[in-house]
Order: sequence, then C-alpha cells, then structure tokens
Amino acid sequence: MSLTGPYDPDNIFAKILRGEIPAVTVWEDDHVLAFMDVFPQSEGHVLVISKTSRARTLLEVEPDVLARLTAAVHRTARAVNRALSPDGLSVMQFNGEAGGQTVFHLHVHIIPRWADRPMKGHGHAPMAQTAALRPLADRIAAALDRD
Ligand code: AMP
Repeated sequence: MSLTGPYDPDNIFAKILRGEIPAVTVWEDDHVLAFMDVFPQSEGHVLVISKTSRARTLLEVEPDVLARLTAAVHRTARAVNRALSPDGLSVMQFNGEAGGQTVFHLHVHIIPRWADRPMKGHGHAPMAQTAALRPLADRIAAALDRD
C-alpha cells in the first residue's frame, strides 16, 4: 500500500469502529478511540484513532481531526505514564507500507518503555489475550485526566 490511494472501508480499524470485530477499549468519545494493540510491542501499547476521518495517513488528515487526535494522544500518554510508570514512552506513527504502516486508517502508537526490557519489533510481537489486555486498559483508563 502506497502513501496515496483510496480508503478501504474494510480495514481492521474500520471494522473495530463498526463493532464488527472486538477491541479492548481504553477510552473513547464521539471523535476518538483509544484501544490496546493486540500485538503489543511492550506492556501497555495503546493505539489512538479518529472515529470520523477516512484519512489513511498523516498526509491526508483534516486539521481539526489531527488536533483532536493529538489531544487524545496527549491525554492517553499521560494516563499510561501514571498507570504504568515506564522509564520512557515512544509515540510513533507510520505512513505507507515503505514507512512501516500495516493498517491504513491513520493511528498513533503509544508504547511505554522500560530501560531493562527491550521493545519488541514492529510487526513481530506475539498476540496478547483479552484477559491480559483488559486489566491494563482499566488501569490506564483509571489514570485519565478528568478535566
Ligand atoms: P501500523 O503497522 O503502524 O499500521 O500499526 C498497526 C497496528 O495495529 C500494529 O501495531 C498491530 O499490532 C495492530 N493491530 C492489528 N490488528 C489489530 C487488532 N485487531 N486489534 C488491535 N490492534 C491491532
């Protein structure tokens, strides 16, 4: 998949947004959804997506959607930090297959990092079970800013 092209309404995140496949939600509002990456590169790997935009990449996103997405990433990253106390946080976003993107609905990765735990490779992490992800999502949700 290149940097340009039509939005595929059957991409995996579109299916999650339509409730056709399950996801472990951290939090959501009318505009954004934060949910656990099912192939976490580290414990607490969260993805944030727009619910309203059909942007495939950063290049296509509408400015107002990007503003809401960025605010959601900030809020979620602060909660991940409070909930899991990592040593660092990698916030990543990939565009185009050559850029490392595998799902063509714009999304941002929030990946907590610990100095003594190597991060698993992008696209090389084992699948996590809902039973392991739900408690992490609940801890992150409980640490969200409430204002
Ligand atoms: P990217 O490679 O940047 O497009 O990221 C796509 C991310 O989606 C990867 O980190 C995958 O592990 C993740 N992913 C793929 N399928 C699912 C799913 N059903 N639920 C949650 N995360 C997923």
